[in-house]
Amino acid sequence: MSHQSDTARLARDTLKLLAERKLAPTPDNYSSTYQELCGTTVSNSESTPTSKLNWSELIRDLLRQIETPHKGITVSRKRDGVDTVLTRFNSNPDVLFDKISGLLRSWSSAPAANNDFASAVLPEAVAALPSDIKSVNNQSLAESSGELLQQLRELLAQSLENTIASQPELTDEINKLVSLVRVTNDPTRINDLAKQLRQFWLKVELRGGDKIKIQEGLLRLLRLLVENVSELVADDEWIHGQISALQEIVSQPMDKQAIADAERSLRDAIIKQSTLKQSLSDAKTTLKSLMTTFIDRLGNLSETTGDYHQKIEGYSQKISSTNNLTDLSHLLDDIMQDTRVIQASALRSHEELLLTKKQAEEAESRIKELESELMQVSELVREDQLTGALNRRGLDETMDRELKKADRNKSVLSIAMIDIDNFKKLNDSLGHQAGDRALTHLTQVIKETVRPSDSVGRYGGEEFVIVLPNTTLEAAIEVIQRLQRDLTKKFFLHNNERILVTFSAGVALRNENEEQLDLLARADHAMYEAKLAGKNRVIAAN
Ligand code: GH3
Ligand code: MG
Ligand code: MG
Repeated sequence: MSHQSDTARLARDTLKLLAERKLAPTPDNYSSTYQELCGTTVSNSESTPTSKLNWSELIRDLLRQIETPHKGITVSRKRDGVDTVLTRFNSNPDVLFDKISGLLRSWSSAPAANNDFASAVLPEAVAALPSDIKSVNNQSLAESSGELLQQLRELLAQSLENTIASQPELTDEINKLVSLVRVTNDPTRINDLAKQLRQFWLKVELRGGDKIKIQEGLLRLLRLLVENVSELVADDEWIHGQISALQEIVSQPMDKQAIADAERSLRDAIIKQSTLKQSLSDAKTTLKSLMTTFIDRLGNLSETTGDYHQKIEGYSQKISSTNNLTDLSHLLDDIMQDTRVIQASALRSHEELLLTKKQAEEAESRIKELESELMQVSELVREDQLTGALNRRGLDETMDRELKKADRNKSVLSIAMIDIDNFKKLNDSLGHQAGDRALTHLTQVIKETVRPSDSVGRYGGEEFVIVLPNTTLEAAIEVIQRLQRDLTKKFFLHNNERILVTFSAGVALRNENEEQLDLLARADHAMYEAKLAGKNRVIAAN
């Protein structure tokens, strides 16, 4: 068997084994399967002393390079190149080795094409299918071309099936293509199939591009979130909302449009949120300032309990350190509650105060009324309450009236000024109340002794004035002396003990047109003389 036919057979057997084992014709699979098959052959050839060249390495490299995409060099071109070299230099293994090595170097010097094996190698392979078949024919493999085509088709079908794992959304389309690949024999149909496959790989490629865009979109979204985290930390609820929105996006099949929509809505939400946050922050500031003002005013207004003031102070501090709307709202509730209590209490106090003030005003006006009544009454009172004699006002009026009457009638009038002797001693020995009763007793005796037209008035503590109209000095002295005698009969009784009450008296006859005060002074002077003379006597005034 020639070296050329050996290589072609090995390549065919490798593909056959890959198909039997249902392995994708990846470079690695191909390489390892090929190595497995030619391993014995190579080791056999290595045992020959004529060849020390590393053919197994070269073939492995050749297979790898055939499968590796190179820009501008299709797989079929590579195969043609290999075919030409094999045909021309098959007689000299050393030259053949060099030529194949040169061929590989020229391929690898070309820039690498798309790295994606599926999107680059397979379309190339598919595009190359008809010429490969010709090529195979040219390589005197016509007898097995049907079998090889079948194997290649199977490999393509399996490759396509293998792509389902990475493109599950395209399962139906892939399955359709797979069954087409397995049944299409006609060369024209194979061309159509090749076109469909090209379009399919284009789609896969685009989808790959989509994935990159989706990743980029996701990254942008994440960046957007991260950038806004500092802005959003103040508002936990919003962050939760955003996270669940993101979770929603992530949980669903990734789609470029969905990501773009999500990004747009997130961006909109962030803009709206920042506007809202500004308004909210303004509102919070306003609310805080309102609350502080409100509290200050309350504090100033309510002169109530220290407890409330303390609470209010606490609230002020809390408000200035709170930046959370919910906490502010709770604080406001607490303040309102406390304020309601204090307002109720303030209202009660105010009502009580008003009532008290009203009562005080009523009491004040009542007092004024009473005072004025009292004034009026006391002005009317002419009688000494203890003794029943005239008081100073009564005495004054009576004397005034009697003096005028005497003036009118040109009649005489006398007065007597009497002063109880040693009354202090009586008070001291018998008590003040006994003294009071003694005063009353004396008044009573005077009234019983004098005439009804006479008047008796209490001039001072134990001093009395008796007004005796139409009475001469002598007659007046007689009346007072009779009074002295009556007092010796009409004892003042204290605890059934007879107490003798004596007095000293000065009697004065009114001079013509004499003033009341002058007359009183003369009588008083005479009374004083009686005291000096030894008391219990009556002296006529000069
Ligand atoms: P004299 O004989 O010099 O008049 O001595 P006296 O003690 O009577 O006079 P004095 O002026 O020293 O004292 C008068 C006393 O009369 C003093 C006072 O306590 C008492 N007196 C004045 N008014 C009343 C009164 O309404 N009731 C009573 N119980 N005593 C009175
Ligand atoms: Mg006296
Ligand atoms: Mg006296």
